[in-house]
Amino acid sequence: MDRNVLIETLQNEGNLKHSFSAEDIELIAQHMSIETFDKDSILMHKGEPADCMAFLVNGRVQILEDERQIALLTTGDFLGESLFSDEATRVADVQAMEQTTVGLFTIHNFQNFLKTNQRLALQFRELFKAVERARAQQNAAETYINKRKYLALIAHNNMKESLMEFCSIHTEKLDKFSLIATGTTGSMLYKKTGMCLSRKVASGPLGGDQAVGTLISTQNISGVIFFRDPLSSHPHHADIEALGRLCDVYQIPFATNPQSGEAILDYLLSAKENRELLPNRILEAYLKGQKKVIDAG
Ligand code: PGA
Repeated sequence: MDRNVLIETLQNEGNLKHSFSAEDIELIAQHMSIETFDKDSILMHKGEPADCMAFLVNGRVQILEDERQIALLTTGDFLGESLFSDEATRVADVQAMEQTTVGLFTIHNFQNFLKTNQRLALQFRELFKAVERARAQQNAAETYINKRKYLALIAHNNMKESLMEFCSIHTEKLDKFSLIATGTTGSMLYKKTGMCLSRKVASGPLGGDQAVGTLISTQNISGVIFFRDPLSSHPHHADIEALGRLCDVYQIPFATNPQSGEAILDYLLSAKENRELLPNRILEAYLKGQKKVIDAG
């Protein structure tokens, strides 16, 4: 491939054009070698030293982690930017999905670059270090797991007084939990009992019940005390049903009146660490079934 194609692609595609002039990009390109890889060949191997990066001039590559595709890159993308990070080895394989041509930039190219144009070489390295830092931050945010468990308190309007009374009587026990409540219930709790919540979600009919459901799915709810009004109909009937259903799916203690509320408090406060939880058969069976779907796909 003509080097001019590499230069033009670097100037027009990808992120270099945002930080470097066309002349600087031409100088950068002088430090790259042009390599072509056949379909299915491996450009970079997991576990190898991270000693080069590549700019995709044409073709397509996939990033494979344990044979699972985690990203697809094409013209204009860089790969192997960890050349400039503290990561000493590659963490995934890179495989060509079709014939692919890259501009290859090795650690030796970088050393030469430093000798010939230190300013530009350092600026080039800084760009990719910043890319790596941003990526690391994004990964950390995505993989952050909040292990906090909340006890959810919710009451329909006709049941709010009842929940206030319940909370006043059981303040001492409730103090031992991180509490979460739906909007109106939470505001009333603070006003009437002075009870402070760890977290408040939207009002139930505005998505609050669903927000608590989401927290159940992320293992952040230890129990739900939801004083439901059994004598009125509710516009968010579907949300209430959905919350109860998720409690059943994840086997979360779910109390819908003061008596069962007391039972839940005592259950959760008893030495639960030592109690062997009953196996969640339906969840196990479902997850096993879904694994088969994934494997078959
Ligand atoms: P609220 O919602 O606390 O905002 O009144 C309760 C509910 O789910 O109806």
